[in-house]
Amino acid sequence: MNIVIGSGLSAISAYKKHNCDLMIGKGIIGGTASSTNNKKFLFDKGIHVLNTIPENGIGCNCNNYKRKAKIINKIGEIIDYPYQKNNTDNPINETPKNYLDYIIKRFGDKDARDFHVPYNDKFWKYPLHKMSADWANTKYVPKKNINGSYGTNDNFWYPSKGYIGNIAEKRYNSLNLQHNHDNVVAFDIKDKTIITNNNKYKYNKCYSSIPLNRINIDWGCCKKYIKRLKHTTIACFNFSIHNNNIKKSFEGLHWIYFCSKEIPFIRISFPSNYGGKTLKGYTTIQCEISINPYDKLKNYHDYAQIMKDIGIFKKIPTFISSEIINIAYCIPTLTVNEDVKKITQYLNKYDIFPIGRYGKWKNLWMHEVMNI
Ligand SMILES: Cc1cc2nc3c(=O)[nH]c(=O)nc-3n(C[C@H](O)[C@H](O)[C@H](O)COP(=O)(O)OP(=O)(O)OC[C@H]3O[C@@H](n4cnc5c(N)ncnc54)[C@H](O)[C@@H]3O)c2cc1C
Repeated sequence: MNIVIGSGLSAISAYKKHNCDLMIGKGIIGGTASSTNNKKFLFDKGIHVLNTIPENGIGCNCNNYKRKAKIINKIGEIIDYPYQKNNTDNPINETPKNYLDYIIKRFGDKDARDFHVPYNDKFWKYPLHKMSADWANTKYVPKKNINGSYGTNDNFWYPSKGYIGNIAEKRYNSLNLQHNHDNVVAFDIKDKTIITNNNKYKYNKCYSSIPLNRINIDWGCCKKYIKRLKHTTIACFNFSIHNNNIKKSFEGLHWIYFCSKEIPFIRISFPSNYGGKTLKGYTTIQCEISINPYDKLKNYHDYAQIMKDIGIFKKIPTFISSEIINIAYCIPTLTVNEDVKKITQYLNKYDIFPIGRYGKWKNLWMHEVMNI
């Protein structure tokens, strides 16, 4: 039988596309694009908005928003997003050697120093000169659009039900698929068998959205490629505040980016300003912090205090919940393309086909992993 592993958007889509007989997936439906409910407020795992609605639809009702995003730069000024809207944006004529080289060539020394380098250091927590620049033109603040706006999410969509997990739930419910909510613990590749906590399954073809570096398999000659895969971890702290306590210049914003080392957040979003579920009269707030395994997180109260000190709120917001996204962004290292190619070839020999953001080890958007 054909088996798909995972409960996220890629697994749900692959189930139908590859005529699978069984889905084995642990966790909440929607995976990384799911939402957690505490009755009054709903929070996604980090900012999650749809950059596009494909022609044949997304299977769930969405509202369209014109992005309202700001940056707080190194000296605390509030400026429009993206940064180069206000400053330099040079065409790149020669291939950059690495991501740091790309940043300097494209934005110039001053903007690199004042925003792009500190922001990217904080976001990736990985040496920028050891990252490739292949992806940067499209994924890191893309070029000006024909209409003069910037970026893929200049206009974006969000489910009218008030949480991103609604997309996966709708798709999942429409398929009536066979789903074992089980955890895959290993593969016996010689025997083409999937071993879970509760069972063993022989497969003909297996489509796996398990992160490549979490697949428990005899990796043979591929061990070194697996070891070279790097990723970020993101901690999300969720708060709410009464609308009367938001300072005027921050009212109605969708999200804000921060580059200063003194401010722990990479970004703060206001999900209820783009349709996220909330209590009447209250705005929801989510702080995202990129962390290393050896980083010590502060207490949620400290983060709330920092937001007040920056001058966003008149009062300290109320803490609601927190969440860690262990594997959040796949780091585009200098060797990532070669590593993923070798790993994929090895898995394909045993009829395992990696899918999705963490199977392809590429920072794909939701509409890309759904492949519609
Ligand atoms: C912070 C953040 C912000 C983002 N913002 C946006 C955005 O604004 N717009 C956008 O389009 N995209 C965004 N994305 C990307 C989007 O989340 C992904 O493209 C999409 O959710 C990936 O789906 P997936 O199915 O490939 O992976 P996942 O959703 O991660 O699915 C993997 C699944 O495998 C399951 N699994 C893992 N190991 C096992 C195992 N051993 N056994 C069984 N099951 C297992 C997991 O439980 C999960 O269900 C963002 C991602 C992050 C991290």
